[in-house]
Parts: sequence; C-alpha cells; structure tokens
Amino acid sequence: MDCLFCKIAAGEIPSTKVYEDDTVYAFNDIDPQAPVHILIIPKEHISSAAQIDEKNSAVVAHIFEVAASLAKEKGLEEGFRIVTNCGESAGQSVHHLHFHLMGGRNFAWPAG
Ligand code: AMP
Ligand code: ZN
Repeated sequence: MDCLFCKIAAGEIPSTKVYEDDTVYAFNDIDPQAPVHILIIPKEHISSAAQIDEKNSAVVAHIFEVAASLAKEKGLEEGFRIVTNCGESAGQSVHHLHFHLMGGRNFAWPAG
C-alpha cells in the first residue's frame, strides 16, 4: 500500500524515532508546531479516527499509554495536547491514523 506512515513505521522512509514497540511507532513531526511535536501511530494501517472500531481500538488505548509516558519523558508536566485530525474539514493530510502529541508552549482553545 502506498502510505507514507506505513513506510515510516516499516523503516522504509527515514524518521526521527522516539518510541517503538510491536504495535506502535512514534517519531518527531517534520514540521513541528510546538517545541515537542511527536506523531504516534499504530503500525497497522487505519485510515483515520473514523475507522476505529471494536476490532482495532486496543491499539488506540495503547497509543494513549505511550503518549502519557512520552509526555513524562519529555518533561511536559505543565501540560500537553493530543490531537487527531479526521477528514478533510479537520485538515487531515496523511491518511494513516496519527495522534499529534504537542507540548512546551501554551495552546489556545478552541483550536483553529
Ligand atoms: P495531519 O495534517 O493532521 O494529517 O498531520 C500530518 C502531519 O504529518 C503533519 O503535521 C506533517 O508535518 C507531518 N508529516 C508529513 N510528512 C512527514 C514525514 N515524512 N515525517 C514526519 N512528519 C511528517
Ligand atoms: Zn498506512
């Protein structure tokens, strides 16, 4: 499948890895929007949050465990934001489920 993040998770396209296990891969965003901006993805191809279902949702829970651990490791005690853009109107540009873990600055709400 011609998917950028499948290729990154498989090591076929280089990335700055920050975490990896059997089901999850995390790497620095190439265009960081905060001092810490990590993308956390399932190794399994899931197109977006709209495709999460009872068969594949365990990896999403695991991604949030990894996010909490990385936030601690990166010293984000003051707070962080986890975002997933789903679909065109939300600005999803890569169609492989990914969670942005961002921190190290203040964030406005609501976003955008
Ligand atoms: P989204 O727009 O929510 O789909 O997020 C896609 C993210 O992937 C953006 O923040 C991009 O900067 C990031 N991105 C695109 N290509 C790469 C790449 N080769 N390595 C790391 N991050 C990337
Ligand atoms: Zn993929």
